[in-house]
Amino acid sequence: MRAHVGLAAALIALAQPQMAHAALDVAQRRLVLPRHRPWQAQIQFHLGTLADGDTVRAEAHFQSALALYRDSGNTAGQAAALLALGRLAQADGAHDRAEHHLLRAAALADDQRAVSLAVEVQLALSQHYEARGDDARATRHYLEFHALYERLHQGDRRSGVISGRRLAATEMRLRLLTSEIELSQLREESDAGRERMQQLEQAVYRDGLTGALNRRALAEQLPQLLDEAEARQLPLSVLLIDFDRFKQVNDQHSHATGDAVLREAARLFGLGRADGDLLLRYGGEEFCLVLPGADQAAAVAQADQLRARIADHDWEQLSPALMVTLSIGVAQAQPGDNAEILLSRADLALYLAKRSGRDRVAVEPAQ
Ligand code: GH3
Ligand code: MG
Ligand code: MG
Repeated sequence: MRAHVGLAAALIALAQPQMAHAALDVAQRRLVLPRHRPWQAQIQFHLGTLADGDTVRAEAHFQSALALYRDSGNTAGQAAALLALGRLAQADGAHDRAEHHLLRAAALADDQRAVSLAVEVQLALSQHYEARGDDARATRHYLEFHALYERLHQGDRRSGVISGRRLAATEMRLRLLTSEIELSQLREESDAGRERMQQLEQAVYRDGLTGALNRRALAEQLPQLLDEAEARQLPLSVLLIDFDRFKQVNDQHSHATGDAVLREAARLFGLGRADGDLLLRYGGEEFCLVLPGADQAAAVAQADQLRARIADHDWEQLSPALMVTLSIGVAQAQPGDNAEILLSRADLALYLAKRSGRDRVAVEPAQ
């Protein structure tokens, strides 16, 4: 369900509207209201994006998305829907309505976690005032746009987390797959269609070696999980897991053994997980575990359990004298944290775990 909504977003980004419609069809059929109101909001939003050229229908979808985002307490979602409504009104020449929507979007997007949205809103406002001949306001919003844009991209450079470049290979595979899939198969939900859809999801969201989720899944889902946690006032923690001296494992036991270790470890990480937990392969021999509902103490307890499970596992089955340990950094989301900030805090904790001797769990130092 979640995967289909995300898949639709990916397909829209890849200019594959028909495929996106098919994914949204499947998502809608599986939806059980009202439990999945946040997903319903996203579906409506994507349908609005897809209603190209049909302003009335697009507006109805965006309005419906706006109401659903409001009900589920998703501020960034509301801002995105208002921006879309503002742009529609702008294209329609309905200046007052456009201004009203865009100013509301700007107020809602004026929030740490919605910088990329705020950038777009400020640009739309600048264009709006320019079209009305209000140069002073147009300039003010342009400057605001520029400042936010700089801030956004400075963040990219600093943290290097979830970089677009790393997603490029997945995009290529997705393009290949989408071009060969029969739309009718997807729509019918026939066995073959379902299988192809699953393949597509696998290619987009899963790591080929371990079957864990990949960075694209993290990039799409973590911001949303953070929003949900904040709206419901529940804690959320992440673990960053890095294997110790993994180069030596490869050098002393072969690269194939290293691969087998990663596969087996992913299986061990997945044992007994709660439904909402996300296990992701974060990089080469790094994994990330997102634990909605877990505060720092609970996350540390889980991290230590994983650490012990790996250290105590009988790795000699794979290769004589093979030993494997890992270090884990733990961070609990603080109010206002976005995905990048949260991950960089977990990364700092991981660094501390490494520096203090490896085969251990660390949290970031108290501020
Ligand atoms: P440290 O304890 O400091 O983390 O030491 P390390 O050797 O693990 O250091 P580093 O993180 O720099 O190196 C990670 C190594 O993991 C490098 C790379 O050869 C190996 N690696 C990354 N991805 C894979 C993979 O998919 N398969 C195998 N077999 N090895 C991998
Ligand atoms: Mg590493
Ligand atoms: Mg390592």
